[in-house]
Amino acid sequence: MKFETSCIHAGQRPCPTTGAVMTPIYQTATYVQDGIGKYRGYEYSRTGNPTRAALEACLAELEGGQFGLAFASGLAATDTVLRLLGPGDHVLTGNDVYGGTFRLFERVLRPYGLDFSYVDTTDLDQVKSGLRSNTRMIWLETPTNPLLNVSDISAIAGITHSHRNSPLLVVDNTFATPYLQRPLGLGADIVVHSTTKYLGGHSDIIGGAIVGRDEALLERLAFLQNAVGAVPGPMDCFLVLRGIKTLPVRMDRHSRNAAAIADFLATHPKVDHVLYPFHPSHPQVDVARRQMRSGGGMVSFILKGGAEEARRVAESTQTFALAESLGGVESLIEIPAAMTHASTANSPLAVDPGLVRLSVGIEHVDDLLADLEGALG
Ligand SMILES: *Cc1c(COP(=O)(O)O)cnc(C)c1O
Repeated sequence: MKFETSCIHAGQRPCPTTGAVMTPIYQTATYVQDGIGKYRGYEYSRTGNPTRAALEACLAELEGGQFGLAFASGLAATDTVLRLLGPGDHVLTGNDVYGGTFRLFERVLRPYGLDFSYVDTTDLDQVKSGLRSNTRMIWLETPTNPLLNVSDISAIAGITHSHRNSPLLVVDNTFATPYLQRPLGLGADIVVHSTTKYLGGHSDIIGGAIVGRDEALLERLAFLQNAVGAVPGPMDCFLVLRGIKTLPVRMDRHSRNAAAIADFLATHPKVDHVLYPFHPSHPQVDVARRQMRSGGGMVSFILKGGAEEARRVAESTQTFALAESLGGVESLIEIPAAMTHASTANSPLAVDPGLVRLSVGIEHVDDLLADLEGALG
């Protein structure tokens, strides 16, 4: 099946009992046993649930993986992946990962004995020299939130897999989605998502996912999913499945609108510079064009007027709502240093307070351009 067809059908088929075309929301905690230990496939909904199973199979197919596992949030998925490691293990990661990922690494997992170091993953030499004898994982985010830096997944997979430990290469694919970029095909071992964002696509659920291709990893991660228990409910799984059906059409529009907005901002007299993976001014535009289908829906920019001007603009838009999160059909604007990335303040990952981040929605681009023009003017 082509990607667009998989989005609608993968992991799903009409209910054999009722003929329901859409996957039912199996709102149940437990399942009847035909005899002690004689299950019909499900025993308890932390371990497995048919609505969740449909979502997990769909996610696996979209990312080109062998398995998918759904979680209650992107950070729950991240936490579960990190539980593959133990005290004394080192993780090499990017110096502008998502603020919540940084907080989990530093304030929750470091006290348990994991070690993290942060490099510019767009620079392959820094990745090479950052690997240590105890490095067990490379945690890559590309494009990054909120600076939209792009790292070369296949080059980093090459470096990772030639290291004597063969550390696991994990890619947070939240910003790109599998429609724009498929890290497993480029050599990654594991893909992580916040399904809260583009996969859900409608800002109505919090969810996460892990996709991988190795049977031994599946066994370990499925064990952790059940043993730790950060699973999503069936209603949320249904909503992500429904969101995924329109992923390709939404992403095409998100990218088209965002590219037009990046062009507009790049030439606006009040804008210092714009950050957008497919814009010719982007430092990694060649890598982006090689590994992504289009530039995606996120645009960041820095105003000449600095932090004060950034706050004024963010509070002046009408159509762009001032809010955290991203990836929904509606356009959002925010100041990462004061909102989504406040947890990185005073750390090496701190974000420029003059940075404005846009999650460009799928409204008519003329209304979005007019809104920004008004707010900037
Ligand atoms: C939002 C986000 C997360 C965390 O996901 P939640 O669903 O909010 O827990 C992780 N990575 C990236 C890139 C994100 O944007």
